[in-house]
Amino acid sequence: MAYRVRFVDPAKNYAMIKEEIDRAYLEVMSRGDLVDRAQLRSFEGNLAQYVGTKFAVGLNSGYDALHISLRAARVGPGHEVIVPAHTFVATCSAVVNVGATPVLVDVGRDFNIDVGRIEEAITGRTRAIIPVHLNGYMADMPAVMALAASHGLVVVEDACQSLGSSIHGKPAGSWGLTGCWSFYPFKILGGYGDAGAITTDDPDLALLARRLRYNGEDRDTGEYHAHGFTCLLDNLQAAFLDVKLRHLPAWIAKRKRIAATYREGLAGLPGLLLPHYDRPAFNHVYQNYVVRAEEGTAFSDYLKEHGVEVLTQFRKPYYRHAALALVDRGFPETEALCREVCSLPMSVELSDEDISYVVETVRAFYHR
Ligand SMILES: *Cc1c(COP(=O)(O)O)cnc(C)c1O
Repeated sequence: MAYRVRFVDPAKNYAMIKEEIDRAYLEVMSRGDLVDRAQLRSFEGNLAQYVGTKFAVGLNSGYDALHISLRAARVGPGHEVIVPAHTFVATCSAVVNVGATPVLVDVGRDFNIDVGRIEEAITGRTRAIIPVHLNGYMADMPAVMALAASHGLVVVEDACQSLGSSIHGKPAGSWGLTGCWSFYPFKILGGYGDAGAITTDDPDLALLARRLRYNGEDRDTGEYHAHGFTCLLDNLQAAFLDVKLRHLPAWIAKRKRIAATYREGLAGLPGLLLPHYDRPAFNHVYQNYVVRAEEGTAFSDYLKEHGVEVLTQFRKPYYRHAALALVDRGFPETEALCREVCSLPMSVELSDEDISYVVETVRAFYHR
């Protein structure tokens, strides 16, 4: 159906920055700079600077960032890795695909791992924790880092949804051994196809990741240092991402304005929980604006029927997909939020009229 307010509008976004994107495209194409060239280095340098780490390594996807991070941290068979019960499935699949066992932990009201429940999931085999910063809001990293230090665990941050967020000014992706990034088209910094990266302060890890992404090869000497993978960030995507990264601060500011408008317009509706947590040290960048509506699917269906495109990620928790063979240890908060979640449109393409229409439509649901 034709929505009156779309969840995202990639063509409109392109129109906003067309000149810069076209210039980047023409430069790459006319020079024939396709693989591991200056555009990739430039983007990696700018990303590292933005995140506040020494290194960034461009990869093909957020999944690859998680996978390569776990390989580089020597996580493998016999190890357990703690992951949240509510996340995108790739967080967990990366653990399974290095041969380790994911151990799921429930989340709290902010959709992020409930740090108070991590300790009971730790065993003698636990090797790492992957906190996920969901929706643009960081997991409680001071607490995660303290817990990891006291148990000698590696921390890999799944920061795929939270570029630009921070706690006490320290950016997401700069706390753990690595920060893992996705530039999938609909992330806060989205390319025009799959893309991702690792950020890290560890020079050995950065070097290993650079080799693993290119079949284990050292590009200077031609020596193969490992059986690697093919998961290098494309030069063309890097050139596009470099353009978009320059706009990110202004785009985050716009997202915060939209979130403030939603907060004001949707306050006080019965059974509607808004994603505002009043922790001033936590800088929320609103990759997604996920509300919890007690009416669940009746709420999300009403919005869609009235022309507002919304997402409900996810009505079915990933650990309930039988083929994934995961252990359900009982996750009441995840179960409850999966019934209630609804992501309202949140993108820099939204006009003031779009935002007002979303607010009106939500209010109309409660006054129907
Ligand atoms: C998008 C995402 C990923 C995976 O990123 P891809 O680039 O799609 O592989 C992993 N974790 C989270 C939390 C994500 O949102």
